[in-house]
Amino acid sequence: METKRVICMQCHNACRLAAGVEGDRLISVEPDETFPGTRSSYPITKGCPRRRNVIDYFYHPGRLNYPLKRIKGRGDNEWQQISWDDAFAEIGERIKQITDRFGPEAMATTSGTGRTHDEIRQRFFNLLGSPNHTGAGQICYGPFCVMSNVLFGWRLFPVVRDNTKCILLWGGGGPRYWDVFWKSAVNARQEKGAKIIVIDPRGIDSTKHADLWLQNRPGTDCALAMAMINHIIEKDLYNKAFVDAWCHGFSDLKQRAAQYPAGKVAEITWVPEDKIRQAAQWYATLTPGVTNHGMGIEHLHNAVETLHAHFILSALCGNVDEKGGDIFTTPYSGIVHEQEIAAHDRLSDSQVNKTLGIDRFRLMSRKGFDLVQSHLQRVYGNEAFARTSYEAFAHGPSLYRAILTGKPYPVRGMITLSSNPMVTVPNTRLVYEALKSLDLYVVADFFMTPSAQLADYVLPATTYLERPWIWAYSGIVGSERAMPKTLEGRYDRRDDYDIWRGLGLELGQEADWPWESLEDLYDYRLKPAGLTFREFMDRGGFLSSPKENRRYQKSGFATSTGKIELSSKTLEALGYDPLPRYDEPHESPVSRPDSAAHFPLILITGGRHLPYYHSEHRQVASMRKMHPDPLVQIHPDTAAGLGIEDGDWIWIESPRGRIKQKCRIFEGIDQRVVHAQHGWWYPEKEGAEPSLHGVWESNVNVLIDDDPDICNPISGGWPLRTLLCRVYKA
Ligand code: SF4
Repeated sequence: METKRVICMQCHNACRLAAGVEGDRLISVEPDETFPGTRSSYPITKGCPRRRNVIDYFYHPGRLNYPLKRIKGRGDNEWQQISWDDAFAEIGERIKQITDRFGPEAMATTSGTGRTHDEIRQRFFNLLGSPNHTGAGQICYGPFCVMSNVLFGWRLFPVVRDNTKCILLWGGGGPRYWDVFWKSAVNARQEKGAKIIVIDPRGIDSTKHADLWLQNRPGTDCALAMAMINHIIEKDLYNKAFVDAWCHGFSDLKQRAAQYPAGKVAEITWVPEDKIRQAAQWYATLTPGVTNHGMGIEHLHNAVETLHAHFILSALCGNVDEKGGDIFTTPYSGIVHEQEIAAHDRLSDSQVNKTLGIDRFRLMSRKGFDLVQSHLQRVYGNEAFARTSYEAFAHGPSLYRAILTGKPYPVRGMITLSSNPMVTVPNTRLVYEALKSLDLYVVADFFMTPSAQLADYVLPATTYLERPWIWAYSGIVGSERAMPKTLEGRYDRRDDYDIWRGLGLELGQEADWPWESLEDLYDYRLKPAGLTFREFMDRGGFLSSPKENRRYQKSGFATSTGKIELSSKTLEALGYDPLPRYDEPHESPVSRPDSAAHFPLILITGGRHLPYYHSEHRQVASMRKMHPDPLVQIHPDTAAGLGIEDGDWIWIESPRGRIKQKCRIFEGIDQRVVHAQHGWWYPEKEGAEPSLHGVWESNVNVLIDDDPDICNPISGGWPLRTLLCRVYKA
């Protein structure tokens, strides 16, 4: 049996695995014990249900094997197998028709969670001339990375060390989100007496190990953070020497924070005053400390403001770039960076300015990106362009509206790769109507999905086992191809590189795709390291960057002032409030008592549930057996009052529609809040319309609002944790 080193891309842990292969048969996929980074993550990788069931996944009879072309109405689930040559030629011709008639901006793309090479997708679209790349970035890790860049000039990364005294977990960040971090946090508490503070509306697993749990009203986190800042300043608990030397805007912050006394904030947040003060005091005095978070903050209407306040806490207490605190990752310099591959310089300013939503949601667009990148380059040079930690997107909700209305201009074609907008994008009804109305819709995926059912062409993609991979973060890790991507008579799947290049060649981009394969591109990217991809893998497939703390003492922070910008010059330059400010959610019992009379419960969603990852894996029987149905968590008193019992199917209804999930009685949630699972569809159900694999039945995005007027005014993110609903027995 031959062993291949691979990186698992079935979630973001990116575990290094050893794939056992005999001929063209996959025999086993086990944790790679030879890999230097494996030791701490070994128990997680070992127990992971996605890894344990990967052979069922890989050989699933539902895998897409050849390109498919729609032969009847959109959504009729009638397909004809075609060759890759025909697929590229036909799709290329239809893209040409759209761009000739409406301009290149009439073509758009949707991406997923960054587990493909988005820089290659961006290259295709930049060369084509379209800025309309949308994705989950505005409600995923994007705002964290962006706001970290805005305040500090690089991406903050919490690492628990022996000297860490306080661990603040905000809106997730515990087990199942980042298990390696969580394990080190629990060890620090048990062995060194570090305190764990959890801020979360739900009593998730991490609260069992917490010294203090602040169970806040969903959506009020920014007020809570501002109250902690206020207490720390009022009581002189902050690191004065660090703030004086390295922070900009302290006095403005002090004035703003004074608007958030603990008493007032206790009423807003439902968190008792003494707990707010206790959390602030521990965090400020038990240093160094780390702050980790899940997606709970990114999913708020107030996401950017909350992250801003959360980062200010770290700065005030002297935890930034401090061993045992929140450090900076080091960019890896020995590789051609992703921004060069993305070819951003090939998109003209006039096309950049056509990005949908760029005038309104400026931070996570090229406007914000260019501003921040100019400071980063001063300190980090070209390294600032290695694995981007700054995302620039078109605004998804604005894009779907442009498809439907033709305003501000027509968008007529879309390519979806590594995403499933019918399940993962808010306001499913609107998304459905938009996709149905396109002149061209292409989906590349591993399996047929509700989104793929609406496509004109469906292209079969390679999994991490059938493709090579370079994962560059702070250092680089490589993955080799374990399985062939083509087996005569059985399947012919393509890497995302092959797909974008194949389309590029049809569209006259030959000169810009000199690398015939992904391996060739990796050879090019590794040239500065003096290695080919094969040589890199033969030497272990791993290169790390030297670690360096307090780089700012030599070069300052990569911001316009060279300091941490508590009051942000970048936000100010983009026309936003430079300081964090709490706003009540648009749809809450406080802001909409009229609506709350009919929809009395607060709906939150987005918490992780094994063995799935977002909308993936439900077709694999061995995984589905572990978690057969969607579950909604309800407090026992709330359920009893509504005559609902554990295991009952119940309707969850918002002003936008209703879905069904099974009741899971849960003590750890407030009586006024319910948590519904996301990502649900039923691969086993009828694929043709109207079912679309049961996409309307339990999919929480049917309930979510995406009106640009209620999106975060800075990032454009849509609220997933602050909506109103009612529940009743189905
Ligand atoms: S799915 Fe499992 S094995 Fe794969 S990266 Fe995630 S945790 Fe690691």
